[in-house]
Amino acid sequence: MTSRIPKEILEAYKVLDGGEISSDEALRLIRTEPPFNMDLYSLANKARCKFCGDEIGTCEITNAKSGACSEDCSFCAQSARHSTGKPVYPLQSKEKILAAAKIAREHGADAFCIVMSGLGYTEPTKEFLSILDAAKEIIARTSLELHCSIGILSERTAAMLKDAGVATINHNIETAPSFFRNICSTHSIDDRMKTVRVAKSAGLKVCCGGILGIGENDIQRVEFAFALKELDVDSIPINIHQKIAGTRAPECGISQAEALNAIAVTRLVNPARNIKIAAGRNTFFADYQAMLFQCGANGMLVGNYLTINGRSIEADKALLQNLGKSGKTSGDHGKGTTGGNAGKRQ
Ligand code: SF4
Repeated sequence: MTSRIPKEILEAYKVLDGGEISSDEALRLIRTEPPFNMDLYSLANKARCKFCGDEIGTCEITNAKSGACSEDCSFCAQSARHSTGKPVYPLQSKEKILAAAKIAREHGADAFCIVMSGLGYTEPTKEFLSILDAAKEIIARTSLELHCSIGILSERTAAMLKDAGVATINHNIETAPSFFRNICSTHSIDDRMKTVRVAKSAGLKVCCGGILGIGENDIQRVEFAFALKELDVDSIPINIHQKIAGTRAPECGISQAEALNAIAVTRLVNPARNIKIAAGRNTFFADYQAMLFQCGANGMLVGNYLTINGRSIEADKALLQNLGKSGKTSGDHGKGTTGGNAGKRQ
């Protein structure tokens, strides 16, 4: 074995000069093995610093409506087809959502995301209008940048969110287009991609990513990264699948090294996008989570996820301090979340 840096990693340095890597090149990179993983991460880290700066973005969410979803996303505890024992409740009152926003503000957040279970809103239903009402209240009474993760949208509902002052829509494509049918049969990835395009056309920023370890292979992880590039999303939340008892999803099918490689390659395919780590950061990566910010990620979801508790804000602030990085909560860092309807996850 040679100790020289592999040719494919050296060639990928063109990304730092504005070059692009092909899907074949990305596949070779995602298959990087020890002892060269750190060479890959070093390049991804350079790309992060060059195109995104050295700050780590944080964001916080509230699950404003939980469970009872008509859809069958395999990993999701909020599908009515799964018996997980997770909380089920209708849309919370405007006062309760506002209170959650104020707590996020106290945590130092600049951005806050309202997340809803369910397929979404292509018409301005009574429930959709209640969300708009809560959104306007938060915008009027806090300085928070408001994001929504409420599922599939139409041109009409996207425009109404924009008019209300919502800054960003979170709507994940979840996985590679060729693998999506394996995780959901009740709607298509085209439905999700259409919502991303509709939101962008309405002038909303888009936070769109997905979940690793749900059964996809490395070819599909590369396909996923390029699908996000094609959609030209503003930020990319990445979740690591954590099997929730009662869901039909398989156990997590990715190792830590594979996940880090996938994050690094996602950075190299999307060098200037914000990449935020959501579910799995503190559990799957555990003691290695600081490594996420040395391999291409530049943001994280803090606080609790949708149906899984996160860790304390204080612990995350200490993590950033130990890394010598400032925490910046901006809309561009997207909600990484696990949330929302078609975007939410665990
Ligand atoms: S991911 Fe969204 S659309 Fe899918 S089951 Fe969960 S809440 Fe419903």
